[in-house]
Amino acid sequence: MIAENIKNVETRIQKACERVGRKREEVTLICVTKTMPVEDLREAYDAGQRSFGENRVQEINDKFPQLPEDIQWHMIGHLQTNKVKYLMDKVVMIHSVDSVHLAKAISKEAVKAGRVMDILIEINAAGEESKFGLDYDNVLTMVKEIAPLPGIHINGLMTVAPYTDDPETNRVFFRNLRELAVDIDRQSIDNVSMTVLSMGMTGDFEVAIEEGATHIRVGTAIFGQRNYAV
Ligand SMILES: *Cc1c(COP(=O)(O)O)cnc(C)c1O
Repeated sequence: MIAENIKNVETRIQKACERVGRKREEVTLICVTKTMPVEDLREAYDAGQRSFGENRVQEINDKFPQLPEDIQWHMIGHLQTNKVKYLMDKVVMIHSVDSVHLAKAISKEAVKAGRVMDILIEINAAGEESKFGLDYDNVLTMVKEIAPLPGIHINGLMTVAPYTDDPETNRVFFRNLRELAVDIDRQSIDNVSMTVLSMGMTGDFEVAIEEGATHIRVGTAIFGQRNYAV
């Protein structure tokens, strides 16, 4: 089932790339494994997947030691500063940085761990009340404020677009995110490179790829509906 789903997602990624003349290698598929049991992750691993995304530190802590070491773990969910330390020996990137306060905590722990952590700035692209992330207006100021911090590298932007039945309605948000990344890049700020655009989920990843996503985060289309009750 999971292997089959991955194949279908893969075909859809390839077609989206072809439509806009992008290379398949330009897009990383992050399998979003939150709430899923380790057996399901292993199935995805056996089907060739190596990038997994989780939104809770506790779940990363639980699953990490049970799975092969060559998995690239991505932290994609809202993060509390007191939990940052648990991620330093586990994740390759933190997608959900939405405050200077959090960036400082990541910086501090990364320095302590002797590493550089790649981070993305999370943008609330549609300005939804229920969502985390910065408003467009505040992004540049914040990027400039956290760029000099040691132990982190700002690698790009991330957004969670609104839930929708019609992915076309999210195109404008993905386009805005890319344009914002281009604007920030033009400023040539030290320690900032806008190479990553983490956008697109089960409902809208093809549109996101067409608009320049480098990382798509796909859960439901691979693992099925999540059951938050268990
Ligand atoms: C759960 C989640 C996803 C995956 O959502 P699907 O619609 O199941 O593909 C992507 N990004 C974030 C931040 C998530 O929390």
